[in-house]
Amino acid sequence: MARYTGPVCRICRRRGDKLYLKGERCYSPKCAFERRPNPPGPRPARRRKVSDRGLQLREKQRARATYGVLERQFLRYYKEAVRRPGVSGINLVQILESRLDNAVYRAGFADSRSQARQIVRHGLITLNGRKTDIPSAQLRDGDNIGFTQRGTRSEHYKVLQETIAAKSPPSWLVVDAGALTARVAGPLEVVPGETHRFNENVIIEYYSR
Ligand code: SF4
Repeated sequence: MARYTGPVCRICRRRGDKLYLKGERCYSPKCAFERRPNPPGPRPARRRKVSDRGLQLREKQRARATYGVLERQFLRYYKEAVRRPGVSGINLVQILESRLDNAVYRAGFADSRSQARQIVRHGLITLNGRKTDIPSAQLRDGDNIGFTQRGTRSEHYKVLQETIAAKSPPSWLVVDAGALTARVAGPLEVVPGETHRFNENVIIEYYSR
């Protein structure tokens, strides 16, 4: 599956907010947004008023950038969210959060979603005991995430054994810090500001026009 490969700090500066796309660096003084919070590129001659549609678009782009999802797949997620019973906005966040790469990140097995995606793609992760290299795989209640044999021999795994205790996974993921495994336990709770930092309802409005 394709992914964005351009400079990610530029996305934060363009969105005017920290999206925490680079792990540890985002919490250090090296963060590009901390040093240069202005948008990239030349300064515009005059500031234009952003339309409602423009604001909706920004919110959608923010969500896409946060989870590293390209437009076509994001549109599929929207259609699936609307199809499911319940509140479409919450469904959308649940679909995004249920991605394997996101769960690997949330469990504390990676410092960022892009790193999580990379270790999945490199075949270091198992889903229910089987090697899975599909970052977008959707998790269900009771699914188990672990490391492959190759994964347990990796340098990443060794570092993780020492650092995992400091991580705080969400309530829907039960992490065994000794075995470095995680289990999806119970429904995925959506708490704005905690689970995600975008307005999911605005995104639904954007697509439903
Ligand atoms: Fe965004 Fe992290 Fe880069 Fe800061 S370091 S600009 S939060 S991706």
